[in-house]
Amino acid sequence: MAGFLNRFWQGLRGTREQMGQRWRQLIGRSVSAEFWDDLEEQLYLADLGPEAVERILERAHRRLQTDKPVDEAALMSLLEEEMIRLLPEDDPDPWALSPEHPNVWLVLGVNGAGKTTSVGKLASAFRARNRRVLIGAADTFRAAANEQLAVWARRSGAELVQQAPGADPAAVAFDAVVAGRGRGADLVLIDTAGRLHTKTPLMQELGKIVRVIGRECPGAPHRTLLVVDATTGQNGVVQARQFAEAAGADGIILTKLDGTAKGGVVIAIQQELGIPVRWVGLGEGAEDLMPFSRTDFVGAMLGHDPWARPGL
Ligand code: GDP
Ligand code: GDP
Ligand code: MG
Repeated sequence: MAGFLNRFWQGLRGTREQMGQRWRQLIGRSVSAEFWDDLEEQLYLADLGPEAVERILERAHRRLQTDKPVDEAALMSLLEEEMIRLLPEDDPDPWALSPEHPNVWLVLGVNGAGKTTSVGKLASAFRARNRRVLIGAADTFRAAANEQLAVWARRSGAELVQQAPGADPAAVAFDAVVAGRGRGADLVLIDTAGRLHTKTPLMQELGKIVRVIGRECPGAPHRTLLVVDATTGQNGVVQARQFAEAAGADGIILTKLDGTAKGGVVIAIQQELGIPVRWVGLGEGAEDLMPFSRTDFVGAMLGHDPWARPGL
């Protein structure tokens, strides 16, 4: 697990450094009205979203002693505990697949969020765990998408089902599910074209993909993973809401955490939509996808590194 934590630690450097400066401004001050305003502002700036900010402030009012200056350890443990409390427990076995064969995971999101890369990373990770993986290239809109997935499939040893650019994405998804079953795949990953969450016909197309694969394979998609680019901050919450309505997203892949100081959006999405972040992208390579862990994540975000400070 040391490796995992280090990856979070490295990937969340930008978030940690920015947040660290914010929290430092609050330390040593008396707990006054001005202190509460500043704490509220800092929580907002950390991209936690209004609901999480309100909940943390409510708890902070109960926990911080008002007759003493704010002590660093007290403030940091308050933030850490309250942020962890707002996130769901870690998936005890993120690599487990449900007993249905194949498991079908549908991957959605706006353009450039990191869908194709995440499908490639998931394919690599499950292949490394000896799972038979088939990728369905249902982004038929962008001509380069097939080639991008072909590279990932070749490198990881996953199979690939694709059609010519312009084909009906639901037909590709259907083919992939049929092929996955026929060939005994454990996991079928379906990549889709990026779409703006505000474009109704494109959002309806997602509904069609979901219906078609569900008809072919009852229970599919077993997971509908929405890819959110962490650098988009609060806009990610808006996107997630629209995608959840159109296609029933039940998990988030939060990408590009390595390039942002807006890591707090994990908590905003969870609080406002109740959709858990399942995976996080911490770079562009095959190894750069981690199962989400709330303790490692919050620890890395707040600068609490149990490896650097053993015993904490
Ligand atoms: P899609 O349009 O949603 O399929 O997005 P792509 O998978 O094509 O990714 C868009 C860009 O984001 C590519 O340059 C990826 O290498 C990059 N990318 C994806 N995930 C991550 C990540 O977790 N970290 C970083 N730094 N870059 C990423
Ligand atoms: P194998 O050669 O016997 O292992 O069989 P395949 O893997 O080629 O296919 C098994 C089943 O899935 C057969 O019924 C195929 O018709 C179907 N199948 C395989 N690939 C595709 C595909 O790309 N599209 C569609 N629609 N069906 C496929
Ligand atoms: Mg793509």
